Amino acid sequence: MSKTCLVVDDSKVIRKVARHILETLEFSVEEAADGSEALEVCAGKRPDVVLLDWNMPVMGGMDFLRALGAMAYPDKPKVVFCTTENSGAHIRAAIEAGADEYIMKPFDRDTLESKLQIVGAL
Ligand SMILES: [Mg+2]
Repeated sequence: MSKTCLVVDDSKVIRKVARHILETLEFSVEEAADGSEALEVCAGKRPDVVLLDWNMPVMGGMDFLRALGAMAYPDKPKVVFCTTENSGAHIRAAIEAGADEYIMKPFDRDTLESKLQIVGAL
């Protein structure tokens, strides 16, 4: 059975690009446009890994991480957060809030593949 990756990004274009890459890596892909939608998908479909945007309306990446951390269920997804801000403090904050890895946008297939390997999703 293929693993499921939830792509969380307010940009439809980025979701589409990520979906395409992930499907070539044989993931089944779910999408959410903000952290709040993403929590609903996590509670229902239990993705293996979440590709998480940082800046989003309604609920951003940091609030999503905190809410996911507070949810009580086993086998939580691995989280790779995506950022355009190359800031050490920013990255540390995300890791402290529960992210497993981070990736700089825009990312290509090879970079995403290696990050997914690092978190054990591939
Ligand atoms: Mg965004």
